[in-house]
Amino acid sequence: MIPILRRVADLRPQVAEWRADRQAVAVVPTMGALHAGHLSLVRAARARCPRVIVTIFVNPAQFNNPEDLEKYPRTENADAELLAPEGVDAVFAPLVDEVYPPGFATTVSVAGISEPLEGMHRPGHFAGVATVVAKLFGMTGASHAFFGEKDWQQLAVIRRMAADLDLPVEVVGCPTLRDSDGLAMSSRNARLSPAARALAPALHRAMQGAARSLRGGVKAGKALEWAVADVLNAGFDSVDYMDLRDAATLGSVEAPDAPARLLAAATLDGVRLIDNIAV
Ligand code: AMP
Repeated sequence: MIPILRRVADLRPQVAEWRADRQAVAVVPTMGALHAGHLSLVRAARARCPRVIVTIFVNPAQFNNPEDLEKYPRTENADAELLAPEGVDAVFAPLVDEVYPPGFATTVSVAGISEPLEGMHRPGHFAGVATVVAKLFGMTGASHAFFGEKDWQQLAVIRRMAADLDLPVEVVGCPTLRDSDGLAMSSRNARLSPAARALAPALHRAMQGAARSLRGGVKAGKALEWAVADVLNAGFDSVDYMDLRDAATLGSVEAPDAPARLLAAATLDGVRLIDNIAV
């Protein structure tokens, strides 16, 4: 079994040894409840770096909804079993007090790119993410950090933060892993009832339809309106957004002239799902 470290004081001497040996050290930040999508990040990290740390921390600061935080799946033993064959060097799973000790007073907030889409619907979410990721970079001393494109806006926020603060960490984005029916893998999928799970791929299907329409020259307003209708007709409760954005800045775009991204969030069976695809 890989050692599960709870304290930064236990992690630091280990990382210092690796870095003194000039070995690249990867960190793969997660909130646990690991699935194949997480493992694809671990494998990408392993391919690039001789040392890999996986962090497991359900970060209270990024949950704007206390019920969502409470319901978030916690499966540490199963996570450790999944990681065992992956060649991970350490699992860092700190307690909340280790990350936010009494007197903790700093927030990292990334203006602009944090504001639309998820930022509009989850106030404070990205400040929570940016703060904990900055902490995890500092705590682990990693040289490389691996994040999923599944959370496209999160990846953009972290890239912006790392560049703005000159953090000495290379941020690497990895493609979204999907189930065979197209649903993006997510720890939240486990909360869907079997009936809802069967309907869930409609989100990705509608997005693919919209991407085809956009590439075919249909105006963004129309293509997005049709996609929202498809998602609601398929049985989703609501759509928070379905939007075409510049892939790098997340600024609004009317047509996919430069690399563009279609991003969506919708709720099904009380579970909020997000997805994004290239257009
Ligand atoms: P989470 O545990 O949901 O915070 O996710 C931890 C990391 O795994 C983040 O960088 C996510 O973007 C990434 N991730 C989550 N789901 C997937 C997926 N289906 N494919 C690729 N990466 C993912």
